[in-house]
Order: sequence, then structure tokens, then C-alpha cells
Amino acid sequence: QVRVRFPPSPTGFIHVGNVRSALFNWAFARHYGGTLVLRIEDTDTARNTEEGYDSILDSLRWLGLDWDEGPEVGGDHGPYRQSERREVYADAAARLRESGKAYDCFCTTEEVDARRKASGSKMQGYDGFCRDLGADARAAFEAEGRRPTLRLRMPDAPIVFDDLVRGEITFLPENVPDFALVRANGDPLYTLVNPLDDALMGITHVLRGEDLLSSTPRQIALHEALVELGLGSGVPRYGHLPIVMGEGNKRLSKRDAGSGLTEYLDRGFLPAGVLNYLALLGWGIAADRDVFTMEEMVEAFDITRVNPNPARFDLKKLEAINAAHMRTVPVEEMTHLVVPFLQRAGVVSEPLSSADAQLLELAMPLVAERINTLSDAVAMLDFLFVDEADFVLDEKDAAKLLDETGTEVVQASHDALAALDEWSTAAIQDALQRTLVEERGLKPRVAFGPVRVAVTGRRVSPPLFESLELLGRERGLGRLRAAAD
Ligand code: GLU
Repeated sequence: QVRVRFPPSPTGFIHVGNVRSALFNWAFARHYGGTLVLRIEDTDTARNTEEGYDSILDSLRWLGLDWDEGPEVGGDHGPYRQSERREVYADAAARLRESGKAYDCFCTTEEVDARRKASGSKMQGYDGFCRDLGADARAAFEAEGRRPTLRLRMPDAPIVFDDLVRGEITFLPENVPDFALVRANGDPLYTLVNPLDDALMGITHVLRGEDLLSSTPRQIALHEALVELGLGSGVPRYGHLPIVMGEGNKRLSKRDAGSGLTEYLDRGFLPAGVLNYLALLGWGIAADRDVFTMEEMVEAFDITRVNPNPARFDLKKLEAINAAHMRTVPVEEMTHLVVPFLQRAGVVSEPLSSADAQLLELAMPLVAERINTLSDAVAMLDFLFVDEADFVLDEKDAAKLLDETGTEVVQASHDALAALDEWSTAAIQDALQRTLVEERGLKPRVAFGPVRVAVTGRRVSPPLFESLELLGRERGLGRLRAAAD
């Protein structure tokens, strides 16, 4: 039975690198019919917030990355928020101490540094001074009022494991010193609670970012100690996902554009597009294929085929992948999806009036193929819904296209359309084609550009003739007249 976990710390908005880890764990669990555990690592009370917690859950729900055990859904291994597991940690720490697998350490950082300097040792981290402290030395420290941290006694042999992504990895004992599990004030550390919970929650595979690779030998040693104490389910398999690079060959950071997930929700990306792109940060379905669905990913996902090399975060590519998914959404569903974006921008009424709903239904087929995110619909459609008194032309576009020739073209269009008996796309197209292209010999681009700006306010818009029909005779002619003045 495959059991994987996603253990975010609720310290702020969720980072795309973290979401990539969530996705790979989810796909792995779904591929094997296993269990995905969501565990909230919120022991660091100074940095964790309730908003951070809500935002993680909201983000996962928006993406459709569902979990089988965890907050809100429960399960047999709870509680799933580490802030509610303090007794579990205290109990495990006590057993590690009693068994001698971990020991009390009274040293201060300064003392450790001073000893290192004096001995000329190159070893980083703790030197093992308190490993075998006699009763007298201990009593002396206690008499000074010192309180101990708890440290794990690391084995003296190399730690070797077979990483699912990177193959065999060896850590030599001199590079992995004894490390603290519990602070002097009794607070359990990440180094204890993360692997301990993996053990107690029966996690079989740990798939996470490469930045955590250096903590893996310590976690393996702790798992082995726990097994000997009869705690937990044994050492999980590890797979370290490639680092995600942002600007300037550095790890993608929260400061990089596009690194926060909520940004995509706000801009109206589709979950399917975001997930597809995140999958490409280390994995691919086939060499010649970038666009796929989550069903296809689940079916094909193979952790051993993840590329260990750094992945580059590329906003342009994300936008292109999202656009490809937009093309697959049926127009009725697209209409439904854009309404909240149009409402937030004040383009349509809230609740949606039946007049707005009707116009939107007619207009969406014109724009559905032309938008790459849901929020793109705002700029495409506002010309249709705006009150005439509030209609304005894009300044730059107007300056460029409504020059002397442009204004003449608009005036001629107005006169040709004013003479129409029937206000339909076909009639409008005929009239403009005849007057501008045939009679005046203008190239279509030169002919229709100014008309488009006059009518829709912008150079980029839904198709012109259809837009004019939807706008109606009165508003259409009114705008042409205004622009020709
Ligand atoms: N809470 C840790 C983090 O968010 C979990 C790391 C892990 O996957 O082990 O970085």
C-alpha cells in the first residue's frame, strides 16, 4: 500500500515549488491507488498563521489535488496538524532519551565553536562532547542552571540510500554530526517531528524538493532508531525532485514573478493548465508532447522517470500551456467560468441580469478562442457592456489608428452602415468591404483597424462585424460618429 504525504508549513501563500511537490505526490498516490496524507507542519508558532493554513487548503482545492487523510477529511493517523501532536512528540522524545539513542546535550554554540577552533577540526556541526557525559559532569551543568537539548546519536557508518530520482546516494559520518531533536525549552524541532510523523503515519515514499536532500541521512538514522523502539513503520523510500530555478540562475524564490500560486487563481488560469505546467518541472509524458490532462498524468506517472536536473520556471511557457487548455473548454462552460471575473471588474451585473446573461451568451463564442486566461475576457468584452457615457477609446490605440486617414475611414464606414436596412453581420461585412476595400482600394488591415478602435475601443477585440451586430445599430453608429469627429 503506497502512502505518501504533503507536509506544508502554513507560513504564507503557497509557493509553486511546493505545489509541484504536492502534485507529484498526488499523481504517485493516484497512479498506485494509494493514500495521500495532508499534514500541516505548524509547530513554529511564530511563523505560522491561520490565513496561511486556509490559503493552503483553498489552493489545493482550487487545483483539485484532493487528499485522503488530513485536516477536514480525518483519518486513522490524526491529528494531522502538528500543533495538536505535542504529546506524541514528548512521548517519542522520552523514549529516544531512555533508550540512549538520543542524549542530553548541555553545550552552547559558543563552546562548540571554541572547541572546533582549538582542535583545528574541519568538521561542521556538533562534536559529540556530551555523548557520554558522566553523572558528575551532568550534575555540574544542571547546577549552573543549564537545560539540555536532545540530540540523536548518529551511527558511525556511512548512510547509503537509493533515491528514486537520483539513484544511490552516500553520506559519510563525518558530514552528518549528531543533531538536535528537541530544544532546551522543550519545543520539538522539525528534525524530529517531520520524520517521526512520517513513521507514525505509515509513509512509504517521501517525494520532496532537492533542497531537503541534506536532511535525509539524519531522517533515515532517526527512522532506524524509531524502528528499534518499535515506533513507526520503517524507513520510507526517498525521491528528491529537481530544484526549480527562477531569475538569474537562482532557486525560484517568493520574490520572483509568478512564484505564488494565488496569482494564477486571480488571473484566471485554469487549474488544468497550471497543473500541466507544474508537471513539466521535472517530468514529461513524452518527448514531443507538452500538453496533457491530469488523468493522463496519473496514468503515466513514473517517479523513476523524473529528471534530476534543475528545472527552469518559465512564465511564458506556463501561459502557453494554459492557453492550450483554454482551447479545450466548451463555450458554455467558459461563459460560466468568466462570469466572476467580469463581475469583479464591474463589466457585468452581480447577480447577473438576464439582459447581461443574454448578451454574454451571444458574445462568448466570439471571444472563447481568443483568450488565454479567464481574466482576458474583461478587456475583450467590456466594450459591449459599458454604458455609452462611460465608453472610452484606448489612448495609445486611438493615437495610432485614428489619424487623418483613420478618421476618414471611420466616417465613410459610418455613412455606409447608416444606409443599411438590415443590421446583421453579413450586411455589415458587405457594406464595409465594398466601401473601404473595393471602392477606396484600402488594404483590409488599413481599412478595418480604425473602425475596430472606434467601435471596441481597442486594436485587439473580438471579430469586428459580429461585434458591430451585437452592439446594435444605435450604439454602433454612435461610436463611429463620435470617433470621426
Ligand atoms: N514542512 C516542510 C516544508 O514545507 C516539509 C518538508 C518535507 O517534505 O519533508 O518544507
